[in-house]
Amino acid sequence: MSDVRNLIIIGSGPAGYTAAIYAARANLEPLVFEGSVAAGGALMNTTDVENFPGFPEGIMGPVLMDNLRGQAERFGAELITDDVTEVDLTGDIKKVTLGDGTEHTARAVILAMGSGYRKLGIDREDELSGHGVSWCATCDGFFFREQHILVVGGGDSALEEATFLTRFASKVTLVHRRDSLRGSKIMQERALANDKIEVAWNSEIGELHGSGALESVTLRDTVTGQTRAIDVTGLFIAIGHDPRSELLRGQVDLDDEGYVLVQPGSTATNIAGVFAAGDLVDHTYRQAITAAGTGCSASLDAERYLANLD
Ligand code: FAD
Repeated sequence: MSDVRNLIIIGSGPAGYTAAIYAARANLEPLVFEGSVAAGGALMNTTDVENFPGFPEGIMGPVLMDNLRGQAERFGAELITDDVTEVDLTGDIKKVTLGDGTEHTARAVILAMGSGYRKLGIDREDELSGHGVSWCATCDGFFFREQHILVVGGGDSALEEATFLTRFASKVTLVHRRDSLRGSKIMQERALANDKIEVAWNSEIGELHGSGALESVTLRDTVTGQTRAIDVTGLFIAIGHDPRSELLRGQVDLDDEGYVLVQPGSTATNIAGVFAAGDLVDHTYRQAITAAGTGCSASLDAERYLANLD
């Protein structure tokens, strides 16, 4: 086992890297586990990010993340591109273990593992992500002005995304597998009363078509099996997200959906010295800037916690 560090940060999205920048500048010499598959977080899967403040012309998601990474490294954060597979957070010395059994310890830990958008699991979904296929209306709706957009899902998020997208789209088709929606009555009423929204009942996405960007989608009727093609440039998938909190079960308090619970007005979890930030905590906003903001807060909370130990 290596020496006990001040701070370990798990996660390399905007929350983790921002926490690392602040902690490194506070001389805490943080050790960051970036993850092996998706180092850099959710924005590595997108193209233009137009709403991160400071970039009036927008910035490509992977470039933004590379900048944040470089900024953290410049101030001395140590980055390890590997997955944490086990944690023991309850004692004064927190222990994290990697897949190969290597153990690292610290007096404080920031959890910033984000949440994964649920995918449809169909061919070309990943390839067309950022090229017509999206999981975030707030992020990408603006790119689809006066275009026809499909939204997949039947819960409140899908209804909210569909309603929001009518601000830009010429038409929004909500694609739902069943003949009734799951979302709350008020959200259903609002969406169904909107002239720009129509619902494709008993329908699911069969295939995605387009060279370079989405051009059309094949819809399959879940009752008859019949298919039809629709020309669309945008497909928003709103079938939920899963916070990456499996590691934490039985130690850190989670809500019913698996998001980490933090104390109001703080990033502190139920365990002393363990803080959480970003989409791992956030049901509501789920933006790069809010993740970065709470990453900053987590670092400042950890810094104060460590100062009180000394
Ligand atoms: P994430 O970015 O999800 O990062 C979490 C990281 O933790 C991952 O890299 C993962 O590798 C790592 N990790 C997880 N588990 C482990 C583990 N066990 N060990 C080590 N590492 C681990 N927001 C905007 O503001 N503007 C946009 O334009 C925008 N566009 C988007 C486009 C797409 C396609 C998507 C999916 C999201 C978009 N978002 C956008 C939302 C934004 O990306 C997220 O809100 C933000 O990335 C959340 O940051 P985070 O740090 O909490 O988590």
